[in-house]
Amino acid sequence: MQKQLTWLLCLFLPVYQSLGQKAAIEESVDSLEAVSHFTFLASDELKGRDAARMEIDIAARYIKEQFRRFGAKPVDEDGSYYQFIPFRQSAPPTQGTVSFAEKTFNHGDDLLVLDGPDIDQELDMVYLGFGLEEDYAEKEVEGKVVMVKVGAPNRFNPTDLFAMGREKIRLAKSKGAAGLVELYNAPTTPWGLVVNFLNRPQMTLDENPDEEDASLPYLWVKDTGGELVKKMEKIDGQIHLSIKGKVNRKIQGRNVVAYIPGTDQELSTTYVMLSAHYDHLGVGRPNAEGDSIYNGARDNAVGTVALINAAKYFAQHPPKRSILLCAWTAEEKGLLGSAFFSKNPMVPLKDIIFNLNIDNAGYNDTSIVTVIGLGRTSVDPLIEEAVAEFGLKAIPDPAPEQGLYDRSDNVNFAREGIPAPTFSLGFTAFDEKVARHYHQPSDRYDNFDLAYALLYWKSYLLSAEKIANETDQPMWKEGDKYEEAAKNLYGF
Ligand SMILES: [Zn+2]
Repeated sequence: MQKQLTWLLCLFLPVYQSLGQKAAIEESVDSLEAVSHFTFLASDELKGRDAARMEIDIAARYIKEQFRRFGAKPVDEDGSYYQFIPFRQSAPPTQGTVSFAEKTFNHGDDLLVLDGPDIDQELDMVYLGFGLEEDYAEKEVEGKVVMVKVGAPNRFNPTDLFAMGREKIRLAKSKGAAGLVELYNAPTTPWGLVVNFLNRPQMTLDENPDEEDASLPYLWVKDTGGELVKKMEKIDGQIHLSIKGKVNRKIQGRNVVAYIPGTDQELSTTYVMLSAHYDHLGVGRPNAEGDSIYNGARDNAVGTVALINAAKYFAQHPPKRSILLCAWTAEEKGLLGSAFFSKNPMVPLKDIIFNLNIDNAGYNDTSIVTVIGLGRTSVDPLIEEAVAEFGLKAIPDPAPEQGLYDRSDNVNFAREGIPAPTFSLGFTAFDEKVARHYHQPSDRYDNFDLAYALLYWKSYLLSAEKIANETDQPMWKEGDKYEEAAKNLYGF
């Protein structure tokens, strides 16, 4: 009898446990409260959570206060709940021309102003080959504009061009030059492509945060045929620089990061990372109704709320493994916040055994959730079960041609080896219904199915809980393109 009872208990315990978890989640996710997080984060007042605008800090502060309120702990030593990130923001000049060698060059056409302050001046110029240390020998450059070839001998790939440029600026500055002009003739990258890429506002990670902004003009001039170089070899003469309104500024971004210690003595030394980007596109071109605020309810206020819900639920119901909560900034600027964390992790990456990310374009089917990366790791059944308990079905990426897996924050961790699917709202194709709101001012909470949002949030929590209670470490399916990285990271 006793034996039979034990056997019965063993058989049904997982079910009861799971039912208990489901009930606890139902109780924890209060619809008024969760929807209020959602409407705040997607509100017009936050002006679309542009990582380059000041309102983004209000969103960060809000997330942090929710993490704190519910008892999730800061990871940073100062207890700020932030990971500060040095960014550089740049925008093309409103006006930019230079004249030399009997020609005038215009910004965006055959000239690119890459850095430096406003200037309107006629200066001496001096040609220095590639502009490397040895080229300065016995040359007088004080107060002159240094004219050089772009890149270096056998170094013409795009990364080289930028890296060399930075070095050359430093050098020119240290020699007292008044500006640096690189004559652009790189066989690897056509001029048109370079203009397309660089002649627009950009935000990037600041690779030299301690360095001051370049105080001298730094320009590229198109010289595809190499004629200018030939001319410059013969003449010195003067150059007229006329540049106005170039934006170069340093800004500080914030990832919001917290954790909840796990309960199992051994497993709690590892983390399941729950993540979502909280930034969006900001204010932009108005739509037909005149709305210019890109609220980003689907992309990705809904995911940010999932993290806040997770802070509340897991602080009350900690699983065996520890939970790491990460709200990323600047995803829309090129996955920058998560990229910074992956290179400057606040806990060792090898201790993060899984990342359940959230990001969204939109949805067209409220009976499913779409898990980008389902079918690639050993925990698929856990996600499928969890989602099913809330009456939904988990389906894998229906639009692999969009390359969504490699277009969101999860890829920065997959590349390091961490299994990292993205738990998305239900879509069966990247169709008109999804595209209608994707990166549009109409991506708002007032046209969002809130009953579905609640099911989505709850099924995310249960998925995360099941994964964080699993004793076996999640693995990539054999032969996955990130399997090798995982072997390196975890050493198995
Ligand atoms: Zn997104």
